[in-house]
Amino acid sequence: MSLADRSLRERRVANAAAAVARCRKCAIGETRRNAVYGEGDPSAALMVVGEGPGETEDRTGRPFVGRAGELLEKMLAAIDLVREDVFICNTVKCRPTLVDGDKLRNRAPELVEMANCRPYLDEQIDIVRPRVILALGAPAAKSFLGPKFAITRQRGQWFEGPQEIALLATFHPAYILRMTGGELNAVKRLVFEDLKAVKARLDEPPPVVASEQTSFF
Ligand code: SF4
Repeated sequence: MSLADRSLRERRVANAAAAVARCRKCAIGETRRNAVYGEGDPSAALMVVGEGPGETEDRTGRPFVGRAGELLEKMLAAIDLVREDVFICNTVKCRPTLVDGDKLRNRAPELVEMANCRPYLDEQIDIVRPRVILALGAPAAKSFLGPKFAITRQRGQWFEGPQEIALLATFHPAYILRMTGGELNAVKRLVFEDLKAVKARLDEPPPVVASEQTSFF
């Protein structure tokens, strides 16, 4: 990739992140502490998409920090990647919360929030143009593949995602962290299989675009 292309992508990411920081399309745009746009290599081959920011992400403005983030980093390390190699973001950029007494608790994003935020996600995919999208957890997978997607049956399978990008879903690190004992080992095995499939896909030679082909005719 040329330096000019890379710097164009960096500028687009910065502009989009600024737009997200101003966005108040949903009520959670008012209750968030920080918008969590996403971060990573703007020309990454792998984009990781989770559900939405939690408490630590909301506080720091960064995706996948805290325990789930640490586990995601271990998952990436299992296929020889570090978080700086990939682009990490969520289906919604503000923390979905519900009031529980005097506390704010995390909740799953509502469909309308995901729909409101989708243009930002589509723009991220358009900027990064990854070769593979890894959706973490059912809500992220459903946002791409529709409400009938079943994570327990369909994780680990390849789908065509937005912009014809290969997409695979696996369990969310926060879900894995809730498992114990034999269940935990079984889930870890499945996730490792999924990660190996992602690595194999990333290791395939990239498709040659017509303009790069050498022809003597
Ligand atoms: S969730 Fe997305 S669309 Fe909704 S307020 Fe936050 S940035 Fe805007």
